Amino acid sequence: MARIIGIDLGTTNTVVAVMEGGEARVIPNDRGSRLTPSVVAFSPAGDVLVGESARNQAVVNAARTIAHVKRKMGQPVAAEIDGKRHSPEEISAFILAKVKRDAEQYLGEEVREAVIAVPANFSDKQRKATVEAGRIAGLTVLRIMNEPTAAALAYGVRGDGVQRIVVYDLGGGTFDATCLEASGTHFTVKASRGHSHLGGIDFDQLLADRVLARFREQSGFDLSGDSVLLQQVYELVERTKIELSSRTEASCALPFIAAGSQSVHLQFEIAREEFNQLISDRVQESIALTRSAVEDAGFDAVGIDALVLSGGSSRIPLVHSLLREALGVNEVALVNPDEIVALGAAVQANALAQSQQLIHLRDVVSYSLGVEIDNGRFVRLLPKNTQIPVEITRVFTTVSDNQDAVEIHVLQGEHPEAGRNESLGRFLLTGIREGSRGEPRIEVAFSVDADGIAHVGAHDVDTGARQNITVHPSPEDEGDGSRQIRRHVEVLIDRTISRRRVAGTMVDPSFAREIEDLIAHARRALARDDVKTLRECRLALETVIDELMIQTGEAGGLQERYEGA
Ligand code: AMP
Repeated sequence: MARIIGIDLGTTNTVVAVMEGGEARVIPNDRGSRLTPSVVAFSPAGDVLVGESARNQAVVNAARTIAHVKRKMGQPVAAEIDGKRHSPEEISAFILAKVKRDAEQYLGEEVREAVIAVPANFSDKQRKATVEAGRIAGLTVLRIMNEPTAAALAYGVRGDGVQRIVVYDLGGGTFDATCLEASGTHFTVKASRGHSHLGGIDFDQLLADRVLARFREQSGFDLSGDSVLLQQVYELVERTKIELSSRTEASCALPFIAAGSQSVHLQFEIAREEFNQLISDRVQESIALTRSAVEDAGFDAVGIDALVLSGGSSRIPLVHSLLREALGVNEVALVNPDEIVALGAAVQANALAQSQQLIHLRDVVSYSLGVEIDNGRFVRLLPKNTQIPVEITRVFTTVSDNQDAVEIHVLQGEHPEAGRNESLGRFLLTGIREGSRGEPRIEVAFSVDADGIAHVGAHDVDTGARQNITVHPSPEDEGDGSRQIRRHVEVLIDRTISRRRVAGTMVDPSFAREIEDLIAHARRALARDDVKTLRECRLALETVIDELMIQTGEAGGLQERYEGA
């Protein structure tokens, strides 16, 4: 029987696993590593490098190296190398083809099928793009599964009855908390909360700021203008941070820094306690979101059976202690958090290979969905965390006499004012029976399918006129409230400024002006509390940060510039 592999196609690393002897195991790559960097590079000689070999040459070949392609999945963009355009699906396919080869070498047989895990809030488009990447790589993707479900599955269902599992996933840049109920072979997502800008990168920044300030105090030298040194500091603090997960004190040293005519050393001991204080607020944010998810799921009343950790940053000891305290859970399942998603995908793959229908997943809508009514108010038709698939209808009417058309404005969000929520689309329903205001009956039907895609239709009950649209609700992000989005943008402005400093003269003048304009634009939007513009600024600032990281060739943060197709 041909084996089916499970793949975690991650933003930073890709992990592949398979079921062997009744146990899911990670397959090492051709270098013996369990994690393959999700990096693809095109060498000047025209070779395609994937994984470690791509990452190792990234600094000297930044313009032809592509990382973090997962963020671009499903977008109509392409990386242009030597006049050839590569879609995100094609770039991901290089990574998938490599792990497929590694798996074949390990198993000694051809591998044709896979289960791939994706973030729970991946849209339909992003899921389809992932299937397409598999196809290009020569893999039939039998199932796309949600990462938290994979993590819960790898943890396994213990005992009889319903198990309530909380998956806490804290990675490099994002955070997700998911509450699932597992019963036999049925997994139901009860609630989830997330934050698109909370993770290891933020902790690195906080530690870097502390180290730079201390160095300034001690030596009188300000390193913030020295791009090369700053970059070394970022790499250094990440190593220190990781060390502090296993030790109570770690050193942070950068010897022989040339300062004028002399050379000075940067050398500090950082205690775990100090690091904990620095990151405590951000970690508490993730804990608060987890608690909200637990409340939404109703788990607070009945208790939690297991807390499963996923993502590299969940190894931080402070995370464990605060979580245990906040949730009242004694046992924290620490299956290797970098591998747990791939292991769960392998469990599912094995079940499919044996023709079992192992997982019956029911998911939820991440945001309330509804429509705008006449006075700018938002009417919720499907409240947040409603289980999908789902369908609902509501009857509306006209606001003026002889009105023969209505505009249906579909939004997602939690604010009672429509303008404060996110617009998903609008359409016009014409051919309404003319009559006095309030007379016509306009039925609006909302349905969300199992992939999380919403379909909205409206029809005049009397004339039968109908119109409909399909919308793609965005990934859930707690940061979409006004207060939180402001915070994101503030953090991103700071990050942009510090990355701009790192890049120094590497930034060409027109891009430098573009950055200044964007920062000014974002600050104006902050002053006006203009959520819509702030959301646009957030995306633009993120892109600028990625660009700056490419220009400075920052290891692990490289990304090719994509141009709209
Ligand atoms: P992921 O997105 O799951 O690959 O997580 C990557 C993030 O986890 C990066 O910010 C890493 O610096 C961080 N990370 C990895 N290992 C550790 C560790 N042992 N302690 C703290 N952070 C870690």
